[in-house]
Formats: sequence, C-alpha cells, structure tokens
Amino acid sequence: MELKKNQEILLTIEDFTKDGEGLGKYQGFPLFVKDTVIGDRVKISITKLKKNYGYGRLLAILEPSPDRVEAPCPVARQCGGCKIQQLSYEQQKKFKWRQVSNCLQRIGSFPDIEKKMEPIYAMDSPWHYRNKAQYPVGLDKKGQITAGFYAGHTHTIIPNTDCLIQAKVNKDILEIILNYLRKNNIQPYDEKTHTGLVRHILTRVGFVTGEIMVCLVINGKKEQLKHISALISRLSAIPGMTSILINTNTDRTNRILGSACRTLWGKPYIEDYIGDIRYQIGPLSFFQVNPVQTKVLYSKALEYAGLTGEEIVWDLYCGIGTISLFLAQRAKHVYGVEIVPDAIADARNNAAINGMDNVTFYVGKAEEIVPAEYARTGIRPDVIVVDPPRKGCEASLLHTMITMAPRRIVYVSCDPGTLARDCLILCQDRYTIDKVAVVDQFAHSCHCEVCVKLGRIKEGEY
Ligand code: SAH
Repeated sequence: MELKKNQEILLTIEDFTKDGEGLGKYQGFPLFVKDTVIGDRVKISITKLKKNYGYGRLLAILEPSPDRVEAPCPVARQCGGCKIQQLSYEQQKKFKWRQVSNCLQRIGSFPDIEKKMEPIYAMDSPWHYRNKAQYPVGLDKKGQITAGFYAGHTHTIIPNTDCLIQAKVNKDILEIILNYLRKNNIQPYDEKTHTGLVRHILTRVGFVTGEIMVCLVINGKKEQLKHISALISRLSAIPGMTSILINTNTDRTNRILGSACRTLWGKPYIEDYIGDIRYQIGPLSFFQVNPVQTKVLYSKALEYAGLTGEEIVWDLYCGIGTISLFLAQRAKHVYGVEIVPDAIADARNNAAINGMDNVTFYVGKAEEIVPAEYARTGIRPDVIVVDPPRKGCEASLLHTMITMAPRRIVYVSCDPGTLARDCLILCQDRYTIDKVAVVDQFAHSCHCEVCVKLGRIKEGEY
C-alpha cells in the first residue's frame, strides 16, 4: 500500500484516542483524524505520514455516526478549546468513564475495576460552566481589534466573544472593552514585534455570589489606557461587577499574567463558595474552573475519606487549600502541603476568613515535607488525600504513604494514566481500591477528574 501526503481517501472511524481524535484504518494502516467520531464514514486528506501511522484532515462526512451532533459553537473546529463538541454529551460521558476504566485495567492491572466504579457524575447542563476566561486580544484578518481563543497548537486568534462554555456575562464585558479599544485606537499586543498594549482580557465570575472580576493584561503602563474612566464606568455598571484591575506583563513570554496587579475599581478579589466554604480569588489565584462540579468532586473526596471529626488528615498538593478546608469541616486536624508559596498564602487566608483553626499549611514538596514531618513527630495520619498534577506522585512519596499506613487514602486525579500507575504501587502491598468516581468537570474537552478510595488491607507492623 502506498499512501502519499495530500492524498484523498475514504475512511471509517473505528476508535477514539484519549485526546479525542478519531482513529480509522486504511488497509490496516492507522490514521488519526481530528473532528471525527466513532462510526463516521469520512473523506480525508493525508497531512502527515510516519512509519507505522499517519494523520489526516477531515474533508467531508459521507455518513455521520449516530453519536455525532452538530457542534453548537460555530467555531468549534477552529478553536483550540473544545475538542469533542461533535460528540453527543451522552457519548462524551461514556468515553470518559471508559477511558478511566481502560487505564485502571491496562496500566494499573485492575481487571475487575468496573465493579468498583460508580456511574459518572456528569453535568446537568454542559454549557456556560467555566468561571474563568483568558481571551487573547489581537487583530482579525481585516485589521479590526478582536478577542477570542487561540486555534489549536498556534497563537492565531479565532475571534469569539460568545463562548458557549464561559459565563454568559463575558459577551457584554468583551464588547465593552473591544469598543473602548477601537474608539480610542489602543493597539493590541503583537507577540512577534513585542509592541502594542493590550495582551489579554481575564474574567472571573463567582457562581454562587455572582461577583465578577475583569483584569486587563497590558504590556505597558496604566496611563497608556486613554480615557480609562469611561471604560471603568461602563464595566462597573454591569450587575455583579466588583473588581476591575490591570495586570502588567512586559515580558516576551507565553505566560499570560505578570506578577504585578493594580486595582482600578472595587476590590482586588472576588469571593465565591464551594459548599459552605468561602474563598477569596484574585487574578493570580489558582481556583477550580468549574465550581459546580468541583463541589461534587470534593464531596466525593470527603465521603471517601470517611471522617467523623476525630481524624488527623494530610492533604497533599493542596493548592489554595480547597480540599483541605472542605475536609477540615469534619476532621480533627488537616495538614496541607503545596509547593507554590502564593497558593499557601491564599490557603491560610481562606482558612482565616472561614474561622477555621484546625488546619496547618506547609510550603514545600510533598515528597520532602511528609517524610520529614513523619520522622520528626512519628504521628500517623488516619487519612491521606492526594491531588497531584498530571504527572502524578513521586514514587518515594507513595512509599512513605505506605509506611505511614493511614486507614484510607483518597487519590484525586486529573490524569487516569498516572493515577493507574500510582494505584498499582499502592496496591502492591497494603492497599486495595474500594471505590472509583469519575466526575466530569470539563464537558467538550477530553479531560475529567477521578476520585479513588483506597483502603488498608493489612495491619502488620508500621
Ligand atoms: N488540590 C488543589 C490543587 C491540585 S493541583 C485543588 O483542588 O484546588 C496540583 C497542585 O500540586 C498544584 O497546586 C501544584 O502547584 C502542586 N504541586 C506540584 N508539585 C508538587 C509537589 N512536588 N509537592 C507539593 N505540591 C506540588
């Protein structure tokens, strides 16, 4: 078989990768095609050929899969945000659940895991769920100032002021800002020449409180924003607006935010709740982007932790202490560990504003702090919760956890692959998986969150 670049062929999509690309075989040769779903019969052109596989671009759908839906967003294909809007939400749920099951079976060697898996906790409505947006500002093809999102793998801006997964109020905010920039001829930032002023528009919305923040990220000084008071008066008239800020970022960098923020109007943060816990969120704070499903996830972590009020709990990779404070409602004491000092400053502040004094936070690497504290105090926790970044836990930390032998370990993860790898280590000796919950926090993307309850099976010596 001879396939060539740019060749046009017909293909039936038979599988779906973890990144949401369709996979079909042409005379046995695997080809990956973005924007397709299992069951589609498609015409593609070959874009890239490797020795054992290749990539194609969707040209036409000859027979649509029964699982296919018309993506409601007109720029879903170009935009780098939603990867699988063309798949019905029912099928997205199955895809995510199956992906977690596959990883735990194949990487974790847990053949019977599906018996332990709860049905997926999906969103009631998979639209307008995000509380944070960062829109790059630039020029469209006609030279008009615009804002939107980057296309996949590039920094080409796909104009879009009405993103279907963002808070609805963003449309008004963007229109006010874009009109202001156009009227005053304020230039957007151009990353090639490192000139121009406005780089990004950041918004955050408190879903429970209704509080709204707008932050303009600029490559320069506030004074360069001419007639700023007109902009402030229009933005501040939006119901719920509490915070208008600028953030200065004059570096040649892909990082969106610089370190310096200045409040132009209102307060420097918004407040929001997850459950009964109140959080203050500044432009630079990390905060979960889907607060409704975060509550579902943390409630699961709390349930799996099985707390009665008497327990000593470690919350590792604690970020701004969101899980720690959630657990502290029902624990004797929670110890949180996080590597980013600013996140711990937020965590301590959030503990204080909620009047919680049964939490202690440490700045440092979990794999260093935990063994050091265990060696110093000899105190064994009843429960350890971990919520690591995608790369999972250091193996040395997992071994320390096994040695400390808490009754339960709750593993929260955004990457089922590394979760499965780490659970395999924990279950080699002392632990077993009792329950698994998959929570969809990110509809139309390929990501989901997983919460695993591991129970201690052997008492033995510690
Ligand atoms: N549990 C938090 C955040 C989890 S994200 C929440 O739900 O909001 C993972 C966190 O782990 C990030 O905040 C990251 O800064 C932190 N981190 C990364 N490596 C770490 C390490 N080795 N030790 C401790 N924290 C680490």
